[in-house]
Amino acid sequence: MTGRWDGRALADSLLEAAQRSVEFGRSEGARPPALLAVHTGEASPFAFYLRQQRKAAGRAGIRYTDETLAADASSTSLRARLREIDSDPTIDGVLLEHPLPEHLGFLSAVSTLRLEKDVDGVGASSLGRLVAGQPIHAPAVARAAVLLARHHGGDLVGRRVAVVGRSGTVGLPLALLLVARGLGAEATVTIAHSRTPNLAAALAGSEVIFTAVGTPGLLDRTNVPRGAAVVDVGLSSVPDESAPSGQRAVGDANSESLEGWASALTPVPGGVGPVTVATLMENTVHAWSLLGRGLPT
Ligand code: NAP
Repeated sequence: MTGRWDGRALADSLLEAAQRSVEFGRSEGARPPALLAVHTGEASPFAFYLRQQRKAAGRAGIRYTDETLAADASSTSLRARLREIDSDPTIDGVLLEHPLPEHLGFLSAVSTLRLEKDVDGVGASSLGRLVAGQPIHAPAVARAAVLLARHHGGDLVGRRVAVVGRSGTVGLPLALLLVARGLGAEATVTIAHSRTPNLAAALAGSEVIFTAVGTPGLLDRTNVPRGAAVVDVGLSSVPDESAPSGQRAVGDANSESLEGWASALTPVPGGVGPVTVATLMENTVHAWSLLGRGLPT
């Protein structure tokens, strides 16, 4: 029997905790926390997440605004705009959608933000703090995946886990968070990527597999060891005539193949996604506290 590690209840409890912190701050005269999402437009594949972010922010009491990049934006104009936002005292957290078109230079753009405002935790300084084991904001997706695994699967200390994917925004921060001392995981970590010649051999012996690739169906019973749990960070759209939009979201795990083989799977949608959105809100409330909550100093 394969368990379902759903993320919705955990996301709800994170949002409730964030809302309590906001209420407490407001009772002391603080303004609401403010989160700004910068993205390439409502037609982007992440439009669904923008809607989820707006909804989650509303529940937590966070003022959420978003800004669409001009179609002719350059890396220089994007960095200049982010520097302006960075010095705006009415904004606590900034979320720059990723992946961005390559010419906009995601890493150098997001790295113009001060550590406190980088609520996605993926700028160069944020990643440096993570390597040093002292993040200001743990990368939101990575933290969400670890929280979800621990919520359902218990302690990860010393356990054999694998991360499939090594991008600078998802896979690598996740591996760093899983191995870091004192940040709640301290697992024994294997990292696999597109140059890994034999995925099954790399994953052999893993108790929990975190996958962040973006290839539907990559993980199945030919490469996942029997009894492992799969935490699916992957998110892709596939055609589905029965869906109103003609498409549906899927992860990297082939759930049909893994049913009855894996010990647990996280659903897509409804697994890592909602916890990621809630973690972003948690990080925004943290940023608001660090930056003084708009109260006079
Ligand atoms: P990415 O930059 O394209 O990175 C994909 C990674 O997968 C790369 O490290 C790549 O290896 C590796 N890879 C590709 N083919 C592989 C294979 N056959 N075997 C093993 N590894 C392979 O993507 P990303 O930005 O990290 O995002 C990963 C996935 O997470 C995407 O589906 C994205 O939509 C999803 N995502 C989900 C959330 C959420 O909240 N649930 C948030 C953000 C992203 P190389 O480095 O060797 O190329």
